[in-house]
Amino acid sequence: TTTTLEQIIDIIKDKSVELLHLQFVDIEGILKQITVTTEQLEDVVEGKMMFDGSSIKGFSPINKSDLYLQPDLATFAVLPWTVENGYSEARFLCSVKNPDGTLFAGDTRNVLKKTVERAAEHGYTISVGPELEFFLFKTDEKGYATQELGDRAGYFEPSPHDTGERVRLEIYRALKAMGFTIEASHTEVAEGQHEINFKYSDVLTAADLATTYKWVVKTVAKKFGLHATFMPKPVFGIAGSGMHVNMSFFEGSENAFFDPSDELQLSKKAYQFIAGLMENVKSFTAITNPLVNSYKRLVPGYEAPCYIAWSASNRSALIRIPAKKGLATRVELRCPDPSANPYLTFALVASAGLDGIEQELDVLAPINEDIFHMTDEERAFKGIDNLPGSLVEALQELESGVIASKTLGEHVYSEYVSLKKAEWNSYRSAVHAWEIENYHTKF
Ligand code: GLU
Ligand code: MG
Ligand code: MG
Repeated sequence: TTTTLEQIIDIIKDKSVELLHLQFVDIEGILKQITVTTEQLEDVVEGKMMFDGSSIKGFSPINKSDLYLQPDLATFAVLPWTVENGYSEARFLCSVKNPDGTLFAGDTRNVLKKTVERAAEHGYTISVGPELEFFLFKTDEKGYATQELGDRAGYFEPSPHDTGERVRLEIYRALKAMGFTIEASHTEVAEGQHEINFKYSDVLTAADLATTYKWVVKTVAKKFGLHATFMPKPVFGIAGSGMHVNMSFFEGSENAFFDPSDELQLSKKAYQFIAGLMENVKSFTAITNPLVNSYKRLVPGYEAPCYIAWSASNRSALIRIPAKKGLATRVELRCPDPSANPYLTFALVASAGLDGIEQELDVLAPINEDIFHMTDEERAFKGIDNLPGSLVEALQELESGVIASKTLGEHVYSEYVSLKKAEWNSYRSAVHAWEIENYHTKF
């Protein structure tokens, strides 16, 4: 949907919008905003709003810190939870520009735009449907997050077990009012875990939606005295939260991954795309699974992948081909988690798939058995490799590959690597509860 300035002015009048939040993301995909009054609208849409980028993670050095925000008109949305007392607030998602008007290289939204251009050179538009899972936790009397789960409902369990049901209904309403097309809403496998699905769209919109979704979920949950987290593995021993990435390439209005004459109804391009993912996934896991905690989700037994294989059905595989075909034909990558920056994640997945197509890579045979129940020897025999087992391994793979540096560009790549190395060093030198429990009295 395109939104014109005239439409925006009408909505501002109609909804008495008082404040405009100009939002953008830092290198981790964390939402940031500057708030201005609606009287500034003209300057805002002309990209005249300047800010100091030196305090934003992964942005600019102190000596060239002046940056500008260019709102994307299509992302204009009135915030449903502000429509009170007759006045409301709205937001724009923005791209970050240099003072000379060029796109700022440290803005990850701009990084994704580059991948969109690369796909366009091949005649493709990238279509993405992400699935973000999250947990709800109770808060204490001060409003701080606790470790007590918000509800005890299991997979697809209806009320009255599900106190999360009411929260999800409100989240659904808020997302819908902000322009999302919601397809489903359900409790997930783990107690306290939820998922709301929205319709796929072009990749930049999908990354904007994923970013907005995380913010809306947290905001609405808070109104119910709950804390929503997109941390990948908040509780040991139960399922973690994934952000499955469903991707396909379109040529005009045709799905380039669909071929009705093939056994799995997949085109040659789709197989090459899968091969590109398999070839590159280890080198981009540090982006799709960016936290120390991400690797505690990638263990056997919880529908999260840890081996590099693909399958038409198997949920233990890294790459799955969902049953829906035709326009809905797509490849589902299951390793990403919702703590990842969606702009960078989608850029890497698309870029790896494009590499597979450019290099006409051959795909290995699908694995339709449960990989978790194979022995190490069986996996080795079938040539099934592992995903990195920790953030430090993933960073080593990232640095020895080329996919990340070429997709992210020099600025984001070097900032990202140094940020994540610092995170790993902080973790590895800290003494954790597990160590105290296992070593303190024994030695
Ligand atoms: N929660 C699982 C994960 O960590 C995914 C469950 C599902 O297939 O929706 O990826
Ligand atoms: Mg799910
Ligand atoms: Mg899925």
